[in-house]
Amino acid sequence: MNIRAELGDGVDKNLGQTLRAISQDMREEYLQPHETPWIIGFSGGKDSTLLAQLVFEMLLELAPRERRRTVHVVANDTLVESPVLARHLDAVLERMMKAVSPLRIPVKIAKTTPSLDHTFWVNLIGRGYPSPSRVFRWCTDRMKIKPTTQYIRDQVSMAGEAILLLGVRRTESTQRRRSVERYENGERLNPHNSLAGCKVYKPIVELDTEDVWQTLLQSSPPWGGSHRELVTLYRNAGGAECPLVTDRSDAPSCGSNSSRFGCWTCTVVDKDKSAAAFVEAGYQDVEPLLEFRDWLKEIRERGDMRMATRRNGSLNFVGDGRLIPGPFTLEARREILRRLEEVQAEVEFPLIRPEEIEAIKQIWTNDFAEAHKSDA
Ligand code: SF4
Repeated sequence: MNIRAELGDGVDKNLGQTLRAISQDMREEYLQPHETPWIIGFSGGKDSTLLAQLVFEMLLELAPRERRRTVHVVANDTLVESPVLARHLDAVLERMMKAVSPLRIPVKIAKTTPSLDHTFWVNLIGRGYPSPSRVFRWCTDRMKIKPTTQYIRDQVSMAGEAILLLGVRRTESTQRRRSVERYENGERLNPHNSLAGCKVYKPIVELDTEDVWQTLLQSSPPWGGSHRELVTLYRNAGGAECPLVTDRSDAPSCGSNSSRFGCWTCTVVDKDKSAAAFVEAGYQDVEPLLEFRDWLKEIRERGDMRMATRRNGSLNFVGDGRLIPGPFTLEARREILRRLEEVQAEVEFPLIRPEEIEAIKQIWTNDFAEAHKSDA
């Protein structure tokens, strides 16, 4: 049922008015006399779910002939997403995909993924990159920023311009407020920080968390189903979402304690509180993943698992003359793959794809040949 119809007059007048104003603003922007597509950054979390719902409803209120501009709903899958979240995201995307044709709205659903060369396992097990940490967070750019920005660039090159709709909110966190304010120009659309031809539109920026929940709890998504699963997810994980990241200025929250819906392999956080909460809530298949993540974090600190030199053969010393170890040794990489395959067999869902294993083995062959060049 329509959000604003359901909230009606009696529930919360101010919130009802705010939602009406957001919808009116989106309608005005959408009816501008050009064909620039909208791209909704969709993470499956509460904020982007509400944003997508408001956009769907705005489109449904337009006459079919006015629904001219394409709206893309784009989610990114790092291929190491927390499985509980990944299942939820896939289910919602599938529902949306099935709904757009009967609803007669010009919406395209897409999921981006990192290229084979940039996946978590190809870099960690193949190249031996140490498990990501605050000082060496090599993953966000490769697994999140690049795939999404490539999608946006493709739309910009086809249409000349694109408008990225983000479900960010000023009150989400202090960090988010600073990032929102840094790029504001007092207009409805702001130029994207790093993507030429892309403008950013944040329709729900002024809503607070309570507004978001109140709205979601009292409405049903236009693509069918309910928001019950989303509420349960948040209740079980007790955390904030990992938003769609299109720029490094969005990235500080990625892999931080405030963003608990990240990759299950994330070793940037000290403890994966969200995964621990899921285990407690009865998601037993998360437990082996949590143990594996803890082990990945632990071996990063073990000198016997790391090479002395970096991949380019140089030694890396810091200011006080301390040697910073290089990648995982070939033996360590083999051990990580072996254990990962054991966990995969235990949980009975895919954790690493065959093409990643193939790419990893190719890198090992090259690394072995390089290491023994001098023996020949
Ligand atoms: S959630 Fe963690 S592992 Fe995933 S991209 Fe962010 S920092 Fe990297």
